[in-house]
Amino acid sequence: MQSVQPPVTVYGVFGCPIEHSLSPLFQNEAFKITGLSGVYLPFLVRPEDLAGAVHAVRSLNMGGVNLTIPHKEAVIPYLDRIEGEAAETGSVNTIVNDGGKLIGYSTDGDGFLYSLRKEAGFEPQGKNVIVLGAGGAARAISFALIRGGIAGLTLVNRNLERALSLKEDLLAKTGFTADCMGFSEIELKRRAGVAELVINTTPVGMFPRVEEAPPFPLEFSPAGCLICDLIYRPPETLWLKKARELGLKVLGGTGMLLYQGILSFSLWTGVTPPEEPLRAVLEKALRPTEK
Ligand code: NAP
Repeated sequence: MQSVQPPVTVYGVFGCPIEHSLSPLFQNEAFKITGLSGVYLPFLVRPEDLAGAVHAVRSLNMGGVNLTIPHKEAVIPYLDRIEGEAAETGSVNTIVNDGGKLIGYSTDGDGFLYSLRKEAGFEPQGKNVIVLGAGGAARAISFALIRGGIAGLTLVNRNLERALSLKEDLLAKTGFTADCMGFSEIELKRRAGVAELVINTTPVGMFPRVEEAPPFPLEFSPAGCLICDLIYRPPETLWLKKARELGLKVLGGTGMLLYQGILSFSLWTGVTPPEEPLRAVLEKALRPTEK
C-alpha cells in the first residue's frame, strides 16, 4: 500500500460484487507511475445504495469513479449529464467530478477500438464483422465498430429477441442496419467464410469453465480473419487457442481492459499514463497461479 500524503484526490470503483475488480491495482499503479496525487479504492455498493454512493462523489469531493456490474446503466439518472459513447450506448463506466458536476462517460468501446488498432493492427473501416453475444459488451463494441466505419455487422445471440433489440437501437441511433441470427450451424458457416473479424462477447470459455468454447465454425474462417475474444481470464481462451492453431490471427481481452482503464485515467487527470508498465501489472495479475 502506497503512503497517502494530503492533499490527495480520492477515486474509486463502485460495484457489487467488487472483489474481482483489477481497477484498484491498475489505477493506483497509474498514479504511482505518473507521480500524480491520487488514491483509488474499491467500494462495495449495493443497488439500493447507488444513489447515496453517487451523491458522496460530490459531497466528499472525489475526483471520479468507475462503475462496474450492475451499475453501468442504473447510474444515469443520478448524473448531471452523459457524454459521447455513454450517451449513445446508455452505459456509463466512468464518472468525472467536474467542480461538483458529475459527468458520465464510457471508455469500453473506445478501449476495444484502441486494442484492435494498436495490438492487432486491424482497421475496422469497410470490414465485415460477426459479433457473438448481444449483452453489454456487445453493445459497446457494436457502437464503436460502427463509429470505426465497418461495412457489415452480424449479431449472433442465443436469445434472438435481445439481438433484435440491439439491432433496433443501433439503427435508431446510428442509421446502421445490422443482421441478427441465432447459433444456426449452416448459416454461421456461410457467414464465417466472408467475415474479416469475429468477436466473442459471451462469457463462454471464461474461468472457471475454461474447457468451453463458443459454437462458431472457426475452420470456415478465411486466412487473414482476426478472431477476437473479450474474455481476459484466461488471457488466451480455448477458442483463441484453436483459432491460432488453425493459422488465424487472434486477439484476447486484456488489451481492451488496459485501454479502457487508461482512457478513464486520462478523463480524470488529463494525463495519459504509459501503457507498458500498466500492461505488465495486468498480465501479472491475470497469470494463472501455480498449484
Ligand atoms: P452480459 O451483458 O451478461 O451479456 C452476456 C452475453 O453472452 C449475452 O448475449 C448472453 O446471451 C451471452 N451468453 C451468456 N452465456 C451464454 C452461453 N452459455 N451460450 C451462448 N451465449 C451466452 O455480459 P457482458 O457485460 O456483455 O460481458 C460478456 C463478456 O465480455 C464477459 O466474459 C466479460 O468478462 C467480457 N468483457 C470483457 C471486457 C474487457 O475489457 N476485456 C469488458 C467487458 C466485458 P443471452 O442474451 O442469450 O443470455
